[in-house]
Order: sequence, then C-alpha cells, then structure tokens
Amino acid sequence: MQTVLEGERAIPVHGPYDVAVAGGGTAGILAAIAAARAGASTILLERGGFFGGHIATQLLEHSAGWYDANGQKVVGGLPDELVERLKQAGGSPGHVTDDTGYTRMRLPVEHELFKSVVVEWLDDEGVQVMPQSPVAAAIERGGLLHVICETKSGRVAFAAKAAVDTTGDADLCARAGCDFHPMDAMQPVSMLFKLGNVDHEAALAYVSAHPEDFKMEAGFPDFSGRSHYNLWGYGSLLRKGREAGLLSLDRNEMHVACHVHSREAVINVTRFAADATDTFAMARAEVALRRQVREFTRFFREMIPGYEKSFLSATASCVGVRESRRIRGVSTLMDDDVRKGRWFTDAVARGGFPIDSHDAHGNSMDGTEHVPAGYDIPLSVLLPESGPNIIVAGRNISAERRALASARITGTCMAMGQAAGTAAALSALGNMPLRQLDVSALQDRLRRDGAIFEAGGPAQRG
Ligand SMILES: Cc1cc2nc3c(=O)[nH]c(=O)nc-3n(C[C@H](O)[C@H](O)[C@H](O)COP(=O)(O)OP(=O)(O)OC[C@H]3O[C@@H](n4cnc5c(N)ncnc54)[C@H](O)[C@@H]3O)c2cc1C
Repeated sequence: MQTVLEGERAIPVHGPYDVAVAGGGTAGILAAIAAARAGASTILLERGGFFGGHIATQLLEHSAGWYDANGQKVVGGLPDELVERLKQAGGSPGHVTDDTGYTRMRLPVEHELFKSVVVEWLDDEGVQVMPQSPVAAAIERGGLLHVICETKSGRVAFAAKAAVDTTGDADLCARAGCDFHPMDAMQPVSMLFKLGNVDHEAALAYVSAHPEDFKMEAGFPDFSGRSHYNLWGYGSLLRKGREAGLLSLDRNEMHVACHVHSREAVINVTRFAADATDTFAMARAEVALRRQVREFTRFFREMIPGYEKSFLSATASCVGVRESRRIRGVSTLMDDDVRKGRWFTDAVARGGFPIDSHDAHGNSMDGTEHVPAGYDIPLSVLLPESGPNIIVAGRNISAERRALASARITGTCMAMGQAAGTAAALSALGNMPLRQLDVSALQDRLRRDGAIFEAGGPAQRG
C-alpha cells in the first residue's frame, strides 16, 4: 500500500494531571470519579460528543451484572451512587427482576437522562471533562505519559502521571505499544434500536397466548402494572418474517426490553461480523446494520402484535462492539476462574453475569454458560504486562474469551472502573508505578468506598 510521511510537529501540552482517563463510557466514568474522589487531579477524554459509553450510544436494554446467580450483590460503592443519582433524576426505577430468568436483576436506564446525570456527576466531582477528544497517540517523556488527542483545536497532549484506558478497544494501550491477546475470533457487532408508539397491552396479550415462544423465569411472570418488562423469544414470528422475505438476517430469537410508560421498546437483534479495530470493517458494519434496522422495523409493524403503529424512534449513535482488543496483562482472567467462582488475593472487583457470547456467523448464541456464583477480578488482569504507567478497565482487560463474555457486562465494567481509577490515583499521588502498587492499601481504600470483592477463600488462585 502507498504511504505518506507525516512531518514532525510540536503539540501543545496541557497538565500535568495526576490521572488521565481515556474513554468516557461505562468503566471510564467510574474510573474518573474514583480518581477524583481519591484526591487526584483528573481529566476524562472522550471521542464522542457526550459521556456514557455503550449504555448511552447503544440504548442498552438495561445495565446488568450487579447480582450473581444466587442473588448476591457483586457490585457496590460508586456504581451504587450512580444508581441513586439516576433514580433521583427519574432515569431508572432501580434494580428490577429479569423476566427472562437469564440473570437475577437488571437495571433499566433512560438513555437521554443518563447522559445528563453522568456529566453532571463528573462535573460535581471536579473531573475535567473533554468530549470530542479521541485519543490518537501516546508519548512517554520526563516520567509523564502524554495522551495525544485529535481535537477541533488540532492535536493536543494531556500529560499525566498515570493513565486509565477505558476506551473499550484499548486504543490508548495500542498507541502506547502494549501487547494483546490474539484477536482471531470475536463476537459480532450490533446496532440496537428503539420503537415508539408500542401498544404494550396488545404485545403482552400475544405473549400470554404464546408462552412457548419465550424464555421466561421459572413460572410465567406477572406483567400487570409494570413500568418495564423484557422478553427473549419471538422465534416463530422471526421464522415467518424470513419466509415472507421481510428479513435477510436469520435469527432464532431476539431481546426486546420494554418501557411501558413511554410506549417504547429497545430491540437487540441485528448483528454483523467485524473487527472493531478495522475502520473499514466498521464502515461496512454501519451500512449493513442500518439496513437491518430498517428491515426489522418493517417486520415489527407487519408481523408483531402490538407494534402495528410503531415507528423507529431512535437508533444507536454508532456500531456497538462486544469484543475487540484484550490487553496481555500481568495475569489473565481464565474461563475457568469465571466458571468456578474463583477468589484472588489481589482482588479489586467482582463479577457474576452468565458467559454471554453471541455467534458472529450463526443465528443464536454460541453457548451461554450459567455462572453459578460470583468470581473475583484481580488487579493483575487490569495491568498491562509491559509499557507505560497505564491501567485498563472494561471490556479490554486481560481475559480469555469466555471469561470476557461474562466480565464485559456494564455492572462489572463499572466496578472495574472504580478499582482502576482508585489505583491510578494512588499511583500518581504516591509516586509509585501501578505495577508496584501496595495491593492491600488499594483494597483497604476500595473496601472503605463500598467496593465488593472476596480476596481470599476456598477457591483461591494466585
Ligand atoms: C449490542 C450490545 C448490547 C449489549 N447489551 C448489554 C446489556 O443489555 N446490558 C449490559 O450491561 N451490557 C450490555 N452490553 C455490553 C456492554 O455494553 C459493554 O461491554 C460495556 O459497555 C463495556 O464498557 P466499557 O467501559 O469497556 O466500554 P464503553 O461503555 O463502550 O465505553 C468506551 C468509551 O470510550 C470511548 N472511546 C473509544 N475509543 C476512544 C478513543 N480512541 N479516544 C477517546 N475515547 C474513546 C467510547 O466513545 C466510549 O464512550 C451490550 C453490548 C453490545 C455491543
């Protein structure tokens, strides 16, 4: 391929900050708040025009991963404060039972309010927020990491003693030369969409008449008087939609998360196989997924009872990514650590969601695995094995693929964010590299701040 040589340029430097957080999504918001709470001057760099990550960009059905299969809470501390702020703003009813029985509880979120609630929270906590600041490069000089963003003002460098990579795709680590696990297989990308003007009474009448078409929690849930409900199924109608030539994508089932009060439903059904770090593949995904959204909108109006007068009220603002780069860490969260609910001496967070893996080339999941109990997430899987003073949180941690398919859920990402932000603050304020941090001091601080993890016990590793 032809190339063009870019000349050297002098880039203005802002800072130094104690902590720079790259990526203002699920994990990044919590990382920035945790760092600021721990006393660090903190800047949060986000490529998009608002903060919130996938919850906001994808219009997620709900935030999940807060409870394990036994109903034990596995996420606490700062993420709980976010839930309280959301509830106070009318942006969430709080944790509600999962009607599908897939997980114990789920947290419906009003996406537009979520964007405002999180940016107000960040501002209240003294975090300097920088939307429209995509990370483009990273340079280490004079004991500081310079995180370089491509902004409307041109390239700007933000110097920091410690950095947190919460970009989901580990963009900062990639620019800083860190190493990654192979990306030979990945879950598909998707685009969620919302339908408005749904007649939920008619939709639920169909569900009651055809319970065999849906996966439900033990016993048929009582949907009466509900503000939110969710469904996993519609297989027979999807088949009919294919036969009628309405749908080009073959799906066995779909997830429909319903907001009764606003007559809306969020639909998770589209999918496309793409490497999210390949910008050309993501361009193809954008085209393919928006075509699928239009097909499914028509299908809903023509074939799903209750949706006859519905309309496309919102679509995700970008392609949604389940899996891309995973850093090669000081250690790796193994599939069996998740399956067996292992505890770690250097634990800093906890997960408990099922292994939730979508098939990039098939019409269903590629083997959901029930996770019987919560498992610890150790600090060592958040730390790149080599490279500058960076810690990661979110779906770019060092994990085997099935382990990540559980840990990528938003509740777990928030818990990891709190841990990573606190660690970055302790590193910066104590002039101690992240890889040499006193783990028990970090754990003490996290426990004081309400974080949940076991850090020792019967099924211990490391
Ligand atoms: C279709 C789909 C449906 C899902 N459904 C659910 C669900 O119902 N419930 C649930 O809990 N989870 C769900 N998930 C999983 C969950 O959304 C993600 O795994 C989770 O949000 C990951 O959190 P994160 O903080 O790592 O990344 P994100 O939340 O994606 O945040 C990353 C942030 O970094 C920013 N960023 C990226 N690159 C750069 C850069 N170079 N510079 C600056 N900023 C950058 C992004 O804009 C974003 O704001 C779903 C995922 C998908 C794709």
